[in-house]
Amino acid sequence: MNGPVAEHLLRQHLIDPEICIRCNTCEETCPIDAITHDGVNYVVKAEVCNGCMACVPPCPTGAIDNWRNVPRAQAYSIDDQFGWDALPAQSVAVNAPAAEAAAHDPAPATSDIVRGSTVPPWSAARPYVQLYTHKAPARAIVVGNYRLTDTSAPSDIHHIVLDFGAVAFPVLEGQSIGILPPGTRADGHAHHARQYSIASPRDGERPGYNNISLTVKRVTRDHGGNATDGVCSNYLCDLHKGDEVTVIGPFGNTFLMPNHPGSHLLMICTGTGSAPMRAMTEYRRRRRLEGAAGKLMLFFGARTREELPYFGPLMTLPNDFIDTNLAFSRTPGQPKRYVQDAMRERAVDVAQLLKDGNTHVYVCGLKGMEEGVLAALGDIAQAHGMVWATLWDELKREGRLHLETY
Ligand code: FAD
Repeated sequence: MNGPVAEHLLRQHLIDPEICIRCNTCEETCPIDAITHDGVNYVVKAEVCNGCMACVPPCPTGAIDNWRNVPRAQAYSIDDQFGWDALPAQSVAVNAPAAEAAAHDPAPATSDIVRGSTVPPWSAARPYVQLYTHKAPARAIVVGNYRLTDTSAPSDIHHIVLDFGAVAFPVLEGQSIGILPPGTRADGHAHHARQYSIASPRDGERPGYNNISLTVKRVTRDHGGNATDGVCSNYLCDLHKGDEVTVIGPFGNTFLMPNHPGSHLLMICTGTGSAPMRAMTEYRRRRRLEGAAGKLMLFFGARTREELPYFGPLMTLPNDFIDTNLAFSRTPGQPKRYVQDAMRERAVDVAQLLKDGNTHVYVCGLKGMEEGVLAALGDIAQAHGMVWATLWDELKREGRLHLETY
């Protein structure tokens, strides 16, 4: 925490540039705008950060959880931090025993600032994280790469299968990996890693094989709509069979699926946010043959049917296995319909799931969807006799509400 270690010392909050995957989660989470970034690094303003820890649990890599005891007058400025390739070592001179006492507590799972769970479902399998790092990455071979979206659709989304061969790369549904794109930025530094959700279940895209799949959207426009070629998404979408890819991770120890019989999944996603939902659904589909119970309800949004990844295979899944609800926001001649609209239409069934302590809620996709989905959940809960504030808190505390938007 940034509390005084000694009057003249500061326990300064820093972000490890070697591990950070520049996902922006910390900057979005920080309630007091203490975190900022340039084209290279994410950094913390020493004079603003109050050590509230709100940013720590949501960070997928742990890069955020770094602290150095420094003389207050010599705190690292953001300009210092922008120039770093690695964190500075802790100066022994100021690493007083008192610093031990400043060991921080993680933000409570029920923090108002953190909207989703910071703990996994109680019955989730234990994940492996960060087995492979920038310094010691894994190599995978591309064994499949094909376009998922209709060729008439402006959105180009690919299903990419990576095989790890003899390299152990254990994953769970809901985890992600980092891809290190080749080449360097204009300033000569290596490109930073980009994060991608795993779209296949733990036992492989092909059961029993040491492979995983990704769902990657080619970025051709920035958030402002200007033409741009996203570095990593274009690299991935253009890969050929046999190409080698550099991978770090896996990441993520909370957005995981429950494993106890009778647990329900309420999944809400848009676009490539379908990747973890595909992984969980496929895992349940494979296990179902062994008699697994529990409901699956899916709300899946895209601009048009042609832009919906996995539309064909999804539609072949039987209704008694998964309750699928699609929402399209740009179908010509039709009113705009978003996932939250579909949820409201199915309010009675959503409410029934929300009332059940075995229900786990997953939201993944566009950043903009989070607000509307939480509002819909709140309204549905309230209209069906639940107190949303209490339920929201419960869901967060019990690892039953997982948000991953980017
Ligand atoms: P960059 O070169 O990094 O960016 C180019 C420009 O485009 C920049 O101006 C940037 O601001 C803008 N930009 C970046 N992303 C987008 C976007 N999505 N839409 C519009 N403009 C953008 N992506 C997937 O395709 N599939 C996934 O499963 C997936 N999972 C993710 C999970 C997490 C937890 C996070 C944080 C991100 C995930 N992403 C996923 C996004 C992914 O990590 C990259 O950010 C994305 O592929 C763009 O990287 P790029 O190198 O192509 O673009």
